[in-house]
Amino acid sequence: GFRMGIVGLPNVGKSTLFNALTKTAAAQAANFPFCTIEPNVGDVAVPDTRLEKLAAIAGSKQIIPTRMTFVDIAGLVKGASKGEGLGNQFLANIRETDAIAHVLRCFEDEDVTHVDGRVDPVSDAETIETELIIADMESLEKRLQNITRKVRGGDKEAVQQERLMKAALAVLEEGKPARVVEVDEDDQKQWKMLQLLTSKPILYVCNVDEGEAAEGNALSQKVAEMAAAQGNAHVVISAKIEEEISQLDAEEAEEFLGELGLKEAGLDRLIKAGYALLELETYFTVGPKEARAWTIKHGTSAPQAAGVIHGDFEKGFIRAETIAYEDFVSLGGEAPAKEAGKMRAEGKNYTVQDGDVLHFLFNT
Ligand code: GDP
Repeated sequence: GFRMGIVGLPNVGKSTLFNALTKTAAAQAANFPFCTIEPNVGDVAVPDTRLEKLAAIAGSKQIIPTRMTFVDIAGLVKGASKGEGLGNQFLANIRETDAIAHVLRCFEDEDVTHVDGRVDPVSDAETIETELIIADMESLEKRLQNITRKVRGGDKEAVQQERLMKAALAVLEEGKPARVVEVDEDDQKQWKMLQLLTSKPILYVCNVDEGEAAEGNALSQKVAEMAAAQGNAHVVISAKIEEEISQLDAEEAEEFLGELGLKEAGLDRLIKAGYALLELETYFTVGPKEARAWTIKHGTSAPQAAGVIHGDFEKGFIRAETIAYEDFVSLGGEAPAKEAGKMRAEGKNYTVQDGDVLHFLFNT
């Protein structure tokens, strides 16, 4: 599955948000298994109204949403790359994520201490980014000596690695994140293997007070401008609202959101933003037993998509019977869609589209 790391300075609302997200997810997940893997790791069901519609049409007994994993990564403070705070453990945690949700304090509250004594989310963002840049530089410098030795020894792969490492170091030394390096298609795989913290896609999460969740405030506006200038995404969320929602049932939560002028809970917006950030899409498998959603990366081929369910499905892939979501719903299910000629047989070169309802045929 896909993992999103939640980072930020202390006292910005990370834990409040993480606890609310996982608690809400657990409550929503009443009819299917939910597990908290570790105290700071939570599996969250991805809300998708299409799945309920498909299940209703097919009369599926069970609904199984796809999931996204959130990891609450504490310990990032100024000097963290030098072993301040919780030391370097958090760096390993960040390396294992696919994207970073960076929580920024955009609320004023004299009762909540700010580590630097003032509320300034743009400066906070820079503080954290600087730590990550330093950590990336140190890890590259360490590895580079070894790679250079391999290059001298005639290792071809090492030549590519050395070139990419040097390209990363050049921008890091200018104080910029590795994210800004333009990487050719042929280099993508090696680039990912460098596992640089600052090459991960980033989503700024502006944590505002309850009354400001719909419109944002002057501080979140500043973050929005910074994010736009960097080409990064941002969402405005109130961790306090999420905390309250996590204690309500679905109906009460909807009413509460309405009163605040919000269409969706922060959980939904955060996950949607995460999906967009990681270019993720959803396909469905639908039958009388269950209706289930699966996550794939944009541009995934039919065999690779089958592999998300089981490795054997990918290995023995023959073809995929495909109905687009719109056709499935407007025609009223699989049989009528098939009659109308809307069920397609797709081979191994088919690129799965968001919303496809799929049956895989495979050799065992
Ligand atoms: P962390 O250190 O980043 O995990 O921060 P916490 O989630 O522990 O939050 C630090 C403090 O700020 C707690 O007392 C929270 O209740 C409070 N807090 C979090 N979000 C908000 C908010 O939107 N408004 C206000 N006023 N307080 C908040």
